[in-house]
Amino acid sequence: MLITTGLAVVMLFVLTSLAGSKIAGVREWAQANALAILALALSACRGIVPDLLSIEVANGLFAVAICLMLAGFRLHLGRTVPVRLLAAGCALTVAAVAVFHVGFDSLPLRTVVVSVFHGIICLAIGLAIPTHSHARLRYAYLYTRCAALVLALGHLVRGCAYAFQADVPAAFLEPTTQNLVFFALGTLALPGLTLGAVMMANARMVSDAVHAADHDYLTGASTRRAFFAVAEHEQARARRHGSGLGLLLLDVDHFKRINDTHGHAVGDQVLRELVAVTQDVVRKVDVCARLGGEEFAVLLPDAQLDTALAVAERLRAALDRSLQEAPGAARVPYTVSIGVAMLQEDDSFAGFMARADAALYAAKAGGRNRVVSAQAGAHPAAPNPAARAACG
Ligand code: GH3
Ligand code: MG
Ligand code: MG
Repeated sequence: MLITTGLAVVMLFVLTSLAGSKIAGVREWAQANALAILALALSACRGIVPDLLSIEVANGLFAVAICLMLAGFRLHLGRTVPVRLLAAGCALTVAAVAVFHVGFDSLPLRTVVVSVFHGIICLAIGLAIPTHSHARLRYAYLYTRCAALVLALGHLVRGCAYAFQADVPAAFLEPTTQNLVFFALGTLALPGLTLGAVMMANARMVSDAVHAADHDYLTGASTRRAFFAVAEHEQARARRHGSGLGLLLLDVDHFKRINDTHGHAVGDQVLRELVAVTQDVVRKVDVCARLGGEEFAVLLPDAQLDTALAVAERLRAALDRSLQEAPGAARVPYTVSIGVAMLQEDDSFAGFMARADAALYAAKAGGRNRVVSAQAGAHPAAPNPAARAACG
């Protein structure tokens, strides 16, 4: 019991350190451990404090603690908590414990009641936790799910043993092997589940941080950092397989004017719409990233020049549009210019980017709202008459 109390105290410290993380469930898990510490202290004082405290109150606190663990997991997973059902379960458990203490004193029957209740709640925790498909979260979810299901099974076996076995221990802390195993199971349940909760919270924080670093907050496009990581990988892959790699650099025309005329918020809306339209036009494997301000890049793996130009032209046409800021409000027209480059043999990525950038510059210089290819002598078969070859 001392070890379990110590573990609960350690878990409480760990959970308290997560208090500022705003991760759902942490508060409930901390409350569960605090109640468990109190319940363990009361149970350990059997014979010293009145039985009402060491039996009814201790079991009631344990019941609320395990329910708070379930509530924490459900909140963490974005589910609702059946508060009334859990409160009724706790009240019923305490009432049954009181009946088998004051009315008809029986340790085995009290153990059956408590084991069945804890077993059901552990089962509910195990069933609530899905098998997560995301690699970063999978291990934490799997551990917690397995721990909860093993504990549920253990509690239910303990309940059955006390219900149907003839030679059950007569005293609460009688040191038989079976009693010790069952007792350890009961007291280690909460620290075991809390470990899973901390692992899940930690995995969620890492996953959220990586997502925030890789996705632009305003538009949801990949960030510059994520883009360069993928681009490096795709460049190596293209060289290995001899496949084509296309790059579109895209910049909104006269964006400053949009901001100045309609306000920054409308400019933001244009950027969001632009990314949504771009993601609709390109394939899933193509990477759309915001390089900064109103400049974007689209990486086209396994694409040849004609495909890259066709995609660029489709994108230009799709983005020659106007934003309906609000119902009834005047529309905000906008266009984009696009520079296209293909990865060449012995190309450095910086050189590849520079050629696409030069093509974009040429598109701007040529009048905007057009596609220009960086490939020397390449005349796009694209339907856009404005598309031109430039730069070389
Ligand atoms: P050009 O056709 O030559 O590209 O002209 P431009 O006005 O689009 O280019 P310029 O570089 O002069 O202006 C870009 C503007 O984009 C200036 C900056 O305030 C604005 N901008 C950068 N980031 C954001 C953003 O996140 N939201 C909004 N609304 N504006 C932004
Ligand atoms: Mg611009
Ligand atoms: Mg710009």
